Parts: sequence; C-alpha cells; structure tokens
Amino acid sequence: MEDIKIYEIAAQVLSGITDELNANIYAPLEGVLALTWSEVPKFNAYAKSKSDIDSPPDHVICIHYELVRQLYRDVESFCDFYFNHLTKSEWEAFFDGLDDAPPLTEFFTQEECTYNMFVGALTFIYFHELGHLLQQHGYIRQKFGESAETIINECQMASKSTLKGDAASVSHVTELCADFYATTKCLYELMRHFQDSKEELRVVLFIFVCGLSCVFHKFSGSAPYTPTEAPIGTHPNPSIRMEFNLPHIYELMDLIAVASGHSMSRRDLVHLCRRASDSSSLYQMAQKRVDWGYNNYLSIRGIPNRPEDHSYLKHIVITWDEIGTLLKKRTIGGHEFDFLSFTQEFRDQINRN
Ligand SMILES: [Zn+2]
Repeated sequence: MEDIKIYEIAAQVLSGITDELNANIYAPLEGVLALTWSEVPKFNAYAKSKSDIDSPPDHVICIHYELVRQLYRDVESFCDFYFNHLTKSEWEAFFDGLDDAPPLTEFFTQEECTYNMFVGALTFIYFHELGHLLQQHGYIRQKFGESAETIINECQMASKSTLKGDAASVSHVTELCADFYATTKCLYELMRHFQDSKEELRVVLFIFVCGLSCVFHKFSGSAPYTPTEAPIGTHPNPSIRMEFNLPHIYELMDLIAVASGHSMSRRDLVHLCRRASDSSSLYQMAQKRVDWGYNNYLSIRGIPNRPEDHSYLKHIVITWDEIGTLLKKRTIGGHEFDFLSFTQEFRDQINRN
C-alpha cells in the first residue's frame, strides 16, 4: 500500500471518532476537540490543552504523519512474520501450555489482518491522547510533577535532560492512566463492531493485543528494556506497559462477559492475551536480533513474577495514591473502568520483597 493511502485511512478513521467526541462530550460543555496533523518526521503524537482548568475544554490531538507511516509498516512487517513463521507447527513448542491461536487465517487475509491491526493500534494511540486530555494530565503534572509543559508528547524528548524524581513518577503514572483509558475505550469499540460475531471478536481481540504491543515497542525506540529502581524519563518501558494492560484487558472482558455475550472464559482470555503478547515479543527479538534467553525481560510473566520491578512499582503505587483523588475529581466525564487502580493483593505482592 502506498503511503498516501495509509494517511487517507488514518484521516478517515480518526476524523470520524473526533466528530463523535465533539458531538457527545465537547459540544455539551461548549468545548472543542481538534484533530491536527504534523509533517515533522518523528514517530510522535501529542495532546495539548489550550484552556484553563475551569474553562470549557479547548483540546488538540496531533498525530504525526510519520507515526502513521511507521506504525503501518511495522504492523505490516509483524503480520508478515506472523503469517509466514508463527503459524507453522514448529513454533507450538514455544507456546507450550497455551491454548491454540485463534484462527486468524480463517477470517482474514494477511492484508485484512494488517488493516485491522493498524486501525486498532492507531485508535489506541488516539484514545491514549484523549485520556491525557479528559483526565487533565497536563494540570496534574504541573500540580504534582512541577512541570511547566502544556504539551504531552509521546516520543522521548532526546534534547531534554532525562526526567527523574517526582516529575518522572507523575509522568509514568499518567502514561499508565492514559493507557488504561485507551484500552477500555478500544475494547468497547471492538465489542460494538463485532457484537454479532463472537468468534470474530476473539480473533480481533488477539489482533488488538498484537497491535498494542507493537505500539509500546515503537514508542520506546532504542531505550533499553531493563528494570530500574524508580521511574526515569517520561514513559514506562514496553514490558511494564504490557504487564499493566494485559490484566486490564482480561479482567474487563471477564467482567462484562455476560452483558456482551462473548463466550471466552477468564482462562481463554489470559491464554489469548499471553499468546498475542509473546508473538509480538518474538517479532521484536527477531527485529533486534536478540534471543529469548538474552532478553527475557520482554516476556510477559505477570507482575508478581517480576521481583526486579517491584521497587519501581512501589513508586508507581505511591504516586497514584497521591494524585488519584484530584485526577478523578478533575476528569471530564469518566467511569470507574477508565481509571487506573491497584488491588490490595497487588499492593501486598510488590511490598513483599
Ligand atoms: Zn502519553
């Protein structure tokens, strides 16, 4: 597919969502949400609030064309890797213990799969930016992180000194909040689109998780995937983002199973998410030419099985407890499923070490 066609698809999908959001959320508040595009050749998207916290929201989401192009090419390359390698029986030993992969090839061609994964991943990025705006993360960062920045960028700003301390912690937590919000919205969209075909929903959920992992890896760029004692920089690494989002996906899907009528059990959902995420990790390792043993930090094991991250996670929980109340109070709209949360069990697990 030519680049210009990719941009057209992106514009069509995101303009439609922007119109809906303006009609349903912004217009009743006398506010506005603008979608803009940047030709600066960076893998970036950003959210900007031009209004005061107490005024009608005047929000901007900007997507760089270069993000759209690279995202499509990465997803295309992943689907090629998946269809030509991971569907082969010799890989079954690697996925030992997990249920069979959903039958992608019975429902979609490789091109259709690429299209669906691209649209899912792009929509996730858009909703992530929307989450920053509706939950007033710029205001929260100013309040708690001593940041004077009014724009929230997704790419790591190489020219700036690396964030540390409270500013980094607040930045990481608000990134996880935006991920949480975006995942919830994307799952609702999937269920809305595929409500009449439950088997197809299972396949597109698998595709969505693969795309989500691609997004996190793309945003992390060449940053090392190694644990740190405390948050550093603006964004959590891709493994941490996946470890938070996967349980969110299967817990939410499990919670609404009866209402949505999908037939996946909690176990089905866990296996499906693990398999999709591990497929993406294999692709990342093939791209970076590292083997599983060399960097098993990429593999998703569940937070309790990552003791090397527990110190980092304590900072995340403490920071969330500091900012959560004000963040929820200042959020435009908002449902309890939209917000990051930590169970007592999770808190006990990370405090055990
Ligand atoms: Zn973000």
